Amino acid sequence: MVFMDKVIKILLFEDNIGDADLIEDMINEFSDFSYEILIVETLEDGLDLLKKQAFDVILLDLGLPDSDGIDTFLDVQEERPEIPIIILTGLNHGKIGINAVKKGAQDYLIKGQVSTEILKRSIRYSIERKKSAEKIKRFTDTLEEQVKQRTEELSIANELLQKEVGEHERTEEKLKSIVEELRRSNRELEQFAYVASHDLQEPLRMVSSFTQLLGRRYKGKLDDDADEFINFAVDGAQRMQQLITDLLAYSRVTSQGKDFEPVKMEDVLEESLLNLKLSILENEVDITHDPLPEVVADPSQIGQIFQNLIGNAIKFRSEKTPEIHISVEEKDNQWLFQVDDNGIGIDPVHSERIFLVFQRLHERGVYPGTGIGLSICQKIVERHGGDIWVDSQLGKGSTFCFTISKRI
Ligand code: ADP
Repeated sequence: MVFMDKVIKILLFEDNIGDADLIEDMINEFSDFSYEILIVETLEDGLDLLKKQAFDVILLDLGLPDSDGIDTFLDVQEERPEIPIIILTGLNHGKIGINAVKKGAQDYLIKGQVSTEILKRSIRYSIERKKSAEKIKRFTDTLEEQVKQRTEELSIANELLQKEVGEHERTEEKLKSIVEELRRSNRELEQFAYVASHDLQEPLRMVSSFTQLLGRRYKGKLDDDADEFINFAVDGAQRMQQLITDLLAYSRVTSQGKDFEPVKMEDVLEESLLNLKLSILENEVDITHDPLPEVVADPSQIGQIFQNLIGNAIKFRSEKTPEIHISVEEKDNQWLFQVDDNGIGIDPVHSERIFLVFQRLHERGVYPGTGIGLSICQKIVERHGGDIWVDSQLGKGSTFCFTISKRI
């Protein structure tokens, strides 16, 4: 409480000596706390004093020699807005009192009707009310300041966010156009590979047949060198023919793929084994398999995967009798197939390279082939929303795994 430990300083504006004495007397009668009262007769004197001293409350008669009415109040309030003001009015000026209260005075008292008790209570409440009002104002000001600050922070954050969103959108746009560009260039490349390998076949066939003819007609009729050169040319032309045929098959995976339909993998495997029958018999291969599911796939392509993988498992056999097992596992959205063999195996450093076009790990003379088989498998698997990889160790057999999406 304000009243406890200090003297309450009161400034009284009153030019009527009788009224001033009366108020002073009443105040002197207050016994609860110590009061100190200063009296001024004019507005000017009062404002002067207010400039120099602090007061706890102002008692203000609006009718002074140098000022009258509500303006008196407004001038005093402007000088010290933080000090509570109690208006003293004559009996007929109650309205002005109310008006002053509306404009910020704490209370108004009608002269002649003021008792010691009323005056005391009015002073106490005015000081308390003003204090609370000041507190609330300070609180509101701080709050407003905080809201302003927060709003500014938010608007900065918002701007940053907008910028980021913009950048994100731009990156996405860029990415889209890069993907589109990539697709286009892939299509062009595939088209090129197809056209090139297709159109090269004819002139190459001529080179091949005429070098063969040359060999047949002139073998032994020229010198030894010529015979050897002709052999080289025949061999080279044949190899080139094989490479071009393989390249054509590779480019056909995407350019001439068929629609997808339900395919029984048991049937597919059976057909692949039939195509490999001769080499299976020759090598006395032991082939086993899990029960295989029905998948949605291009029927003409899916069999090529089994054929290439099983063909390789036989071709790259070890000394042991070839044992091949085909298993399958159902994953969330995919089928995972595995082809296990007990062949020569692959050094893991090569496990990615072997899927590239024409990449082989052995000399041509040791194992036949051009190195296109696994690239074709990879392309087919990718067309079926899957992936292909190998787990292998040199000398310990290989496991080729591939997946096929169930949702194509
Ligand atoms: P190709 O069989 O015509 O050489 P592939 O693309 O089918 O071509 O295979 C690439 C290479 O991967 C082969 O040359 C061989 O070195 C290796 N490879 C493939 N399958 C096996 C396997 N089952 N065991 C060992 N090596 C293999």
